Amino acid sequence: MAATLLARGGGAAARALTFGCLRQLHTVYQTVELPETHQMLCQTCRDFAEKELVPIAAQLDKEHRFPAEQVKKMGALGLLAIDVPEEYKGAGLDYLAYSIAVEEISRGCASTGVVMSVNNSLYLGPILKFGSEEQKHQWIAPFTSGDKIGCFALSEPGNGSDAGAASTVARLDGNEWVLNGTKAWITNAWDASAVVVFATTDKSQKHKGISAFLVPMPTPGLSLGKKEDKLGIRASSTANLIFEDCRIPKANLLGQQGMGFKIAMQTLDSGRIGIASQALGIARGALDCAVDYAEKRLAFGSPISKLQAIQFKLADMALALEGARLLTWRAAMLKDNGKPYTKEAAMAKLAASEAATAISHQAIQILGGMGYVTEMPAERHYRDARITEIYEGTSEIQRLVIAGQLLKEYRG
Ligand SMILES: Cc1cc2nc3c(=O)[nH]c(=O)nc-3n(C[C@H](O)[C@H](O)[C@H](O)COP(=O)(O)OP(=O)(O)OC[C@H]3O[C@@H](n4cnc5c(N)ncnc54)[C@H](O)[C@@H]3O)c2cc1C
Repeated sequence: MAATLLARGGGAAARALTFGCLRQLHTVYQTVELPETHQMLCQTCRDFAEKELVPIAAQLDKEHRFPAEQVKKMGALGLLAIDVPEEYKGAGLDYLAYSIAVEEISRGCASTGVVMSVNNSLYLGPILKFGSEEQKHQWIAPFTSGDKIGCFALSEPGNGSDAGAASTVARLDGNEWVLNGTKAWITNAWDASAVVVFATTDKSQKHKGISAFLVPMPTPGLSLGKKEDKLGIRASSTANLIFEDCRIPKANLLGQQGMGFKIAMQTLDSGRIGIASQALGIARGALDCAVDYAEKRLAFGSPISKLQAIQFKLADMALALEGARLLTWRAAMLKDNGKPYTKEAAMAKLAASEAATAISHQAIQILGGMGYVTEMPAERHYRDARITEIYEGTSEIQRLVIAGQLLKEYRG
């Protein structure tokens, strides 16, 4: 990397820099004293990300390559089923632990962060909450070790935000459900061994006619669309799932018939804590990069970190990051304490995703030209951050959720 800078003739200051290992902020968690288990988990994830993800994240992104080996190692560390009880082979921790782990992993590689988040929150989450005992043993345990991962299929080509308008249908035929329709934008699609899929069993009931199903992958009648060529999180696969007379056993209904929309919405409440945490990780990666560069880059005879214009940017970036983290941890702790957290999870996701976009934008500005090229991670952070404002509910939808809950609280 230093050699590339030399070849570019990037000036005396740039020539003296070695950007191979970016400095990290070690004091980010000083605001709250975490339990020992959480501190240990944080350190484990931080070390793992630094050793296993930071060195390869740019390459994975460039090649659109799924981090299979790293996902297996994360499975061995318990990171793919963090709040799953040990009886189903999970780590038996809580959602605060999950949030901390997703942030640390995403700081290293945002694509790996979303792979982990989808498996934990969107795939295992609804099965843990709504599955029968038999389903939990069958569909959870094999998905905790990293050998298999799951996905979650709610969106369709014709409806994303308006998830209740699902047009994929499921019809009961004897002892089997027959699924027809197309699900769009499904994260992990190309790498998954099972999917929680939502389909309507009674169109006349609108969103109350939607049900959730467990479908093994691959399976006859289910095919994958092309891998989407994305702006960011390029090491995670995203594709359509196409169901054409796909038959699954009657027993693969998750929860009760007609409960699918409720399952999806409750799953997304938890999932938003995961995406907020992913956004925090991306934002922290961008801030680390900006601080490190500002300390090393000389302009007009001294490091640019001495310039007040740069310091103000860094202050605003740190403020946005830490505020968003407090919101995210609050949502996680409410969930861990069995309290309502729909509004708080939406606030966390909204604040963290907008912070990630703003912070990664400013990080590029601080790096100047070096922020605009792939030699430095800043441009990747900027591309990766953008999706956190879109999936698991756009920022507009988060605002609708927050306002809806707020008005409910006022009206009593
Ligand atoms: C990389 C990636 C991965 C994804 N992974 C998954 C996955 O694993 N599983 C899954 O099911 N889905 C997934 N999605 C889909 C994602 O959740 C949707 O893209 C998202 O919910 C938005 O839906 P849409 O794209 O259809 O946009 P639309 O719903 O068409 O929205 C377009 C615009 O209109 C705005 N809008 C819509 N309705 C309203 C409203 N009522 N008020 C104000 N504004 C509104 C939106 O905010 C947005 O700005 C993924 C998407 C991407 C890009």
